[in-house]
Amino acid sequence: MTPAKIPSVTVLAEARRRAEQAAQEAKTSNAEKQADDTTATEGEAPGQPDPRVGRKDKVLPARFPQDGEDLFTAEEWEAQRLAAFQGKAHEALAVGVRELGAPLEELAIPRRAAGPRDIVIDLEYCGLCHSDVHTARGEWGSRAVPLVTGHEMVGRVCAVGSEVQSWQVGERVGVGCMVGSCRVCEPCKRQDEQFCIHNAVGTYGTWDEPHSERTQGGYATSIVVPEDFVLRIPEKIGPAHAAPLLCAGITMYAPLEDLRVGPGDKVAVAGIGGLGHMAVKLAAAMGAEVTALTRTQAKAEDARRLGAHDVVLTTDEGSMAAARGRFTVLVDAISAPHDVNALLDLLAPRGTVVLAGLPADADGSEMPLVDPRTLVNRGLRLAGTKIGGIEQTQRMLEFCADHGVVPDIEIVTAADMNEAWDRMVAGELHYRGVLDIGSLDSHLNA
Ligand SMILES: [Zn+2]
Ligand SMILES: [Zn+2]
Repeated sequence: MTPAKIPSVTVLAEARRRAEQAAQEAKTSNAEKQADDTTATEGEAPGQPDPRVGRKDKVLPARFPQDGEDLFTAEEWEAQRLAAFQGKAHEALAVGVRELGAPLEELAIPRRAAGPRDIVIDLEYCGLCHSDVHTARGEWGSRAVPLVTGHEMVGRVCAVGSEVQSWQVGERVGVGCMVGSCRVCEPCKRQDEQFCIHNAVGTYGTWDEPHSERTQGGYATSIVVPEDFVLRIPEKIGPAHAAPLLCAGITMYAPLEDLRVGPGDKVAVAGIGGLGHMAVKLAAAMGAEVTALTRTQAKAEDARRLGAHDVVLTTDEGSMAAARGRFTVLVDAISAPHDVNALLDLLAPRGTVVLAGLPADADGSEMPLVDPRTLVNRGLRLAGTKIGGIEQTQRMLEFCADHGVVPDIEIVTAADMNEAWDRMVAGELHYRGVLDIGSLDSHLNA
């Protein structure tokens, strides 16, 4: 049989080329087009043109350093920090892009005053997610700029609104891919805010109707968030390790919990990167027998260290043939176009393949279609998954604390962010990059 088409360097280079082209096109049409509006999360569909014409937020308020000057004098910065700690409107120091596809650089962005039910968070760390790159490079459609991405952030509460009762100043908290939703639709009432029929408010690049602003993410010194979209970070998990749990962690936990994975299950994980390495750890902690599917011998050895009981080299036809019909659940965390049919072949009858990532080619035109006979003849299920609700995310954090599950991370400084993004796209980060917010200063890639 044919080995699974796991992404090659050529595919990545081609994706990058198309991304640059898309970014260029987005740039050209910036002047007359309005911004698109979608949440930017793992498993997110690409943006549709924003039907709400007339909104003048294509260019967001932000400041960049001019003529080599710092963004703030020491006194100005102290005043901004004081305002943040008093819950007043302030400027945050951030890392973002001026235009889609442009390199990351340092900028100052406004944060609103805390409303009665908002909390202000003094951020410490923010994870680097593939979605950040897809969004900032224009691979998922146009967005208002300048854009600050980042939706895996952890910090401490530094101010609370007048009606906030469940959070205390000084508590360690996190924010993931959503900062709001309608709260009254059926999915919201079922704690599935990520499927809000009015669209959840994405942590960055999304129009936030109640606050009349377009959201800016967590590569920043502070953020202001409604109290019901904040997560409690268990003390057993360090802040840098907790950050990637808020997108990568929940994205992998939700399908495993939804499918009630446990002892007796044979779980395969395809794509051992930022997402996949979490799936290996989580499924093993749930008691399943875990097999990593990977293209390279180096990743194969590492997968065992992460907790995989077995490894199948997808480039080896013999191993793939031997693994046929073996798995009850296969988590597909491959972030480039690939053939899902080859993965379905590995399932036992009634098995499920869960798609968790969206490649840059988000319209799926480069993905071979699934042959219906493959599904029908052995009663297989092909499913998708998209982060998780706030309640499930909190449950995931407690599970990770109880079972000692944390991501493997590389701490990245602001000055190394552009390189870190390139390394993430090339699959070279082991396994999740985490921006140290304390490293933000005025010398990003100068
Ligand atoms: Zn993400
Ligand atoms: Zn809703």
